[in-house]
Amino acid sequence: MKILVTGGTGFLGSHTVVELLNKENEVVIIDNFSNSKKEVLEKIKQITNKNFLFYEGDIRDKVLLKKIFTENKIETVIHFAGYKAVGESVTAPLKYYDNNLISTIYLLEAMKEANCKNIVFSSSATVYGKPKTLPIKEDFPLHTTNPYGTTKKMIEEILKDFSKANPDFSITILRYFNPIGAHPSGLIGENPNGVPNNLMPYIIKVATKELEYLNIFGNDYDTKDKTGVRDFIHVVDLAKGHSKACEKIEKGVHIYNLGSGKGYSVLELVSIFEKVTKIKIPYKIKKRREGDIAACYADPTLAYKKLNWKAEKSIEDMCKDAYLYAKKNK
Ligand code: NAD
Ligand code: UDP
Repeated sequence: MKILVTGGTGFLGSHTVVELLNKENEVVIIDNFSNSKKEVLEKIKQITNKNFLFYEGDIRDKVLLKKIFTENKIETVIHFAGYKAVGESVTAPLKYYDNNLISTIYLLEAMKEANCKNIVFSSSATVYGKPKTLPIKEDFPLHTTNPYGTTKKMIEEILKDFSKANPDFSITILRYFNPIGAHPSGLIGENPNGVPNNLMPYIIKVATKELEYLNIFGNDYDTKDKTGVRDFIHVVDLAKGHSKACEKIEKGVHIYNLGSGKGYSVLELVSIFEKVTKIKIPYKIKKRREGDIAACYADPTLAYKKLNWKAEKSIEDMCKDAYLYAKKNK
């Protein structure tokens, strides 16, 4: 299958491209490197020993999009490209609405024009807001608390409306829980700029002594050890979920949670990381971070039933691989 991957040099995109190439798909990538590095292209080749096409540019560039669809007979698009920093989306909401919404609209227009009818879209568990019960199922009500989350919710709405007008399209919405880890080769992984916002990248910076200690946001939640609980999923498992989603072409809109179904607390993750890497992670308890919820984990059974996909890697694998990547790329 010939698959266009937008944002294919990013954290999730690069791992997905590796899985797609391993499964003998032809891959075309578009990325503007707004949050990734050129060297990822070489790393993907090194891991897979396979080639792919790359276009440097922005998906809000209609001319470039048309060129890509004219030069390649794309069968499926996986749409990762977009901005994802929650905090920044609060201070620069227009930047988020512009990039995330406009890029998706232009992409759908270009697909329609080229008669390419399959799309897999990156949504997020953030669209569930604060769930009333756990685990979270796909039919739970949606409620967002920041502009980033709202872009995801709005794009889901756009895709549903688009599907009504274009019922022959196959639209898969994947709602990711907390992807962490890295490719076991240590060649590709997550490398955020500046001080990380997310837990695992922050732990990594403490492990590599770039930061002194971890701030744990809140130990007064109604959870097993009073710290926040999340559903961590290995990025390679997540990538495999995309490969499965591409294989399942089904008209209409189909929504799946991609999570492990297990909840680990912040303190549990810290302690497992310490055990696996034999590195002490000093931490200080701070007050709750605004907008955080106590606990969030998926019911991933629908993805298993319909896509024959489930997360297989352990939390220990996630810690080991994330640290290996950090060590190799310090
Ligand atoms: P990332 O920032 O590493 O990757 C996104 C890629 O898209 C980057 O390489 C960036 O350069 C590129 N990009 C951004 N805007 C572009 C544009 N207009 N044109 C071309 N390229 C553009 O992010 P990620 O972690 O790989 O996330 C991928 C997708 O999954 C995003 O849509 C994100 O919102 C979503 N998501 C991520 C997480 C997570 O924890 N990583 C969780 C839920 C959902
Ligand atoms: N967290 C923390 N310290 C950090 C970053 C995150 O204690 O430096 C906690 C956060 O409060 C939440 C969990 O770790 O309970 C996961 O946060 P992250 O930002 O990684 O993902 P989120 O689920 O918020 O998208």
